Amino acid sequence: TVPMIAIDGPTASGKGTIAARVAARLGWHLLDSGALYRLTALACLEQGIAAGDEQGAAAAAAALDVRFVADGVFMGGRDVSADIRREEVGNMASQVAVLAPVRAALLDRQRAFRCPPGLVADGRDMGTVVFPDADLKIFLVASAEARAQRRYKQLIEKGFSANLLTLLRDLEARDARDTQRANAPLAAAHDALVLDSSHLTIDQTVEQVMSWWGE
Ligand code: C5P
Repeated sequence: TVPMIAIDGPTASGKGTIAARVAARLGWHLLDSGALYRLTALACLEQGIAAGDEQGAAAAAAALDVRFVADGVFMGGRDVSADIRREEVGNMASQVAVLAPVRAALLDRQRAFRCPPGLVADGRDMGTVVFPDADLKIFLVASAEARAQRRYKQLIEKGFSANLLTLLRDLEARDARDTQRANAPLAAAHDALVLDSSHLTIDQTVEQVMSWWGE
């Protein structure tokens, strides 16, 4: 089988950044599974499919016409890289992500990313549901305070105003939703290695993953 590393963890734990760095180091493919939920959400919003319409949302997920390129993602030939990062789309994504038919509709699409020479996949259920036979499973965590600090710094650097306490409360609310939902709740796979990045830099975190991989 094609070698792969699964990286799961809570919101703002740095999974996306770490997964991209590790994939670049190994020269492997990258799957940002959250983007697929965001694309499904965008398709629903544009087609007027309500978050409660299970079959409609699942049909939208199954019909997604997406293409991932070096630095972005195209849907139906249109660059939607910025659109899928919108707050409204993220909120809709977390609502469609609770629907079992939507999760089922995205399974094969995610598994198709596992091509030679290898895959690094990040999300919430990579090591538990989508790729239970991954060669290395990482559960990346950081304290809510550390994650709120990082997000605060990012927003300020981009010129936005931000409130640290509000960010912290939002993160804690999303953590609660992600871990308590009935379908695919966020949890570490039994054979995952837990990596706490609260006091690590991005480089140190990548080095830990690489050393667990054996490089
Ligand atoms: O990681 P990101 O914020 O882009 O994910 C968007 C939404 O999709 C989140 O609300 C998350 O709960 C959901 N998601 C999921 N399973 C995944 C990846 C993301 O349920 N594997």
